[in-house]
Amino acid sequence: MISLHNVSKYYPAGFGKTYVLRNISLDISEGEFVSIMGPSGSGKSTLLHILGMLEEPSEGEYLFFDQPVQKLSEKRRTELHRNYIGFVFQAYHLIDELTVYENIETPLLYKGMSSSERKSRVAELLDRFNMVAKKDLFPTQLSGGQQQLVGIARAVASQPKVIFADEPTGNLHSDQAKEIMDLFKKLNKEDGVTIVQVTHSEVNAEYGNRILRLKDGWLESFPVSLESK
Ligand code: ADP
Ligand code: ADP
Repeated sequence: MISLHNVSKYYPAGFGKTYVLRNISLDISEGEFVSIMGPSGSGKSTLLHILGMLEEPSEGEYLFFDQPVQKLSEKRRTELHRNYIGFVFQAYHLIDELTVYENIETPLLYKGMSSSERKSRVAELLDRFNMVAKKDLFPTQLSGGQQQLVGIARAVASQPKVIFADEPTGNLHSDQAKEIMDLFKKLNKEDGVTIVQVTHSEVNAEYGNRILRLKDGWLESFPVSLESK
């Protein structure tokens, strides 16, 4: 489903370049739950943004459902983004001026869904995420955990194939973090949504079926044994 071939990302620095990602090759299959780990500054967010088509690689090739992302028209890429990809952010990125209901409805408006379809889809999501009683509240009236529930409801509203989540529980207490991680697990297991998350937490990483580790922009291609002799 996702395939990176020798992808690098660099920024100009003086007369040279600063590499943030170096020669990353990577395949992710439909239905996987992948965790990206690594120290601060190792390139995790950049990798996630490239996968989520929020940033472009400097070098190499990205295939998404066999389509060469960098060669697609802006229109086609936006279309792919709207229909196949959901993004969840650490700081939620909800629109403070919109209610819970309206935040969840936003991607459906962009998708051009009819008003009756939107109504039933948002109602279904509010019900599933236990947010019916909160539908008319604004994000600032919710706890962090509740805001992230809205963030996830919004991300899954258009029934994406894959959700990219950048430290989705980074701002939450551990009980709320568990609720959010259980929800991702359920979306993965029951709905078959592919999940790719960045996390600092080994506990959260264990929810997935595979851990990718980055260091200084390099991807470790095999598990490193702590007991190397
Ligand atoms: P992580 O998510 O692992 O903390 P990031 O992907 O956010 O790492 O960043 C990796 C490195 O890339 C950092 O050293 C950061 O300073 C650098 N970086 C990110 N964006 C830019 C940019 N627009 N210009 C220059 N350097 C950047
Ligand atoms: P967290 O940010 O870790 O989710 P908070 O300390 O923000 O938790 O919130 C704890 C509780 O306080 C939540 O159950 C939430 O419903 C309530 N709460 C938080 N902010 C507000 C607010 N602005 N108005 C009403 N209730 C709030």
